[in-house]
Amino acid sequence: MTESPPTDHAGAGDTADEPSAGDTADGPSADGDGPDDTDYDVPPDATPVDCEYCGRPFESDGLLALHRWRVHESALTDEQRSAYEEAYEAESGQLQRFRLKALAVLVLLYFGLLMVYAVV
Ligand SMILES: [Zn+2]
Repeated sequence: MTESPPTDHAGAGDTADEPSAGDTADGPSADGDGPDDTDYDVPPDATPVDCEYCGRPFESDGLLALHRWRVHESALTDEQRSAYEEAYEAESGQLQRFRLKALAVLVLLYFGLLMVYAVV
């Protein structure tokens, strides 16, 4: 084995506010509460949920909850905070499963190549 997956839970939220529309708006205005003039590229058949503080569109309620906590943390209500915790838990679970799958693929690849090398 070449590496073990990192186990830090605090760092799991690094990509938490990934915008749904694939823009690159995570710039210097990301901490501001005011509306920025970034254009969001929402597909015409999408039904985004908009942030009630800055109007930014998100693909799902979970992403919106993560964004609200990260950008508008001081203005959160209890309900929004618990929505964030729910979304955070869900995302941590997804991340954990992805790490396990990636590790399994690496192990299979490693031993597969080892067998090929031993046979050839
Ligand atoms: Zn917002």
